[in-house]
Amino acid sequence: MLSVTPIPVLKDNYAYFLEDQATGETAVVDPSRALEVEAFLERQEKGLTYILNTHHHWDHVGGNEDLAKGHGARVVGFKGDRGRLPGQSVFLEDNEIFALGASRARVLHIPGHTLGHVAYYFEEDACVFTGDTLFHLGCGRLFEGTPDQMWTSLLRLAALPQDTRVFCGHEYMLLNLAFARYIAPQDKELEDLVLDFERARAKGEALVGFPLSFEMRFNPFLRCLLDAPGEALALFTRRRLEKDAF
Ligand code: ZN
Ligand code: FE
Repeated sequence: MLSVTPIPVLKDNYAYFLEDQATGETAVVDPSRALEVEAFLERQEKGLTYILNTHHHWDHVGGNEDLAKGHGARVVGFKGDRGRLPGQSVFLEDNEIFALGASRARVLHIPGHTLGHVAYYFEEDACVFTGDTLFHLGCGRLFEGTPDQMWTSLLRLAALPQDTRVFCGHEYMLLNLAFARYIAPQDKELEDLVLDFERARAKGEALVGFPLSFEMRFNPFLRCLLDAPGEALALFTRRRLEKDAF
């Protein structure tokens, strides 16, 4: 069993603290910087075995070196990102299984936002860490990849079991909800989410960890599958451009 705790970092990033209950091995996913993660570890009196990176952007790897030094943690990431992830010493391939104690994560290479982007999919624990590829109600910008690559990557995530909880690298729930409503103004259920999420936000709740089924229903990018069967990629490409200018 894996426990997952979101750690809010910087303005809208989330790092995630993972603990394998069987062995006590621990990891942090995408530490933007060491400060908030160190404070968390100190409060919880925990050490750190691994640092898992989804991609090389500074707001996902900024804490790597300090945390690795301070805790003897090993930095884990995609082999194609060699030289881009500070302190990296574990180089994973697509589809490889990474063991955090008795918890097992499959590495999914999902290029688009960057070319070396990966997700960590813990099948038995029904959760996936999607970095800046899939957000709640959104997806990452195409900094290095093509729309085709990003769409293929999103489809790969969409094919996971629908109860898989999504833990993304940023939380833009309310902003993304505004775009989703612009795309689907007639969707009453989408409108109903606004109050729920505004209330949760006011209470300071972390709006992460919703299931993939939620994304399939409401995410305007995954919705391209349903909205334009047969020409989903073309619609995705248009919506991604529209979102860039929204
Ligand atoms: Zn990024
Ligand atoms: Fe980011």
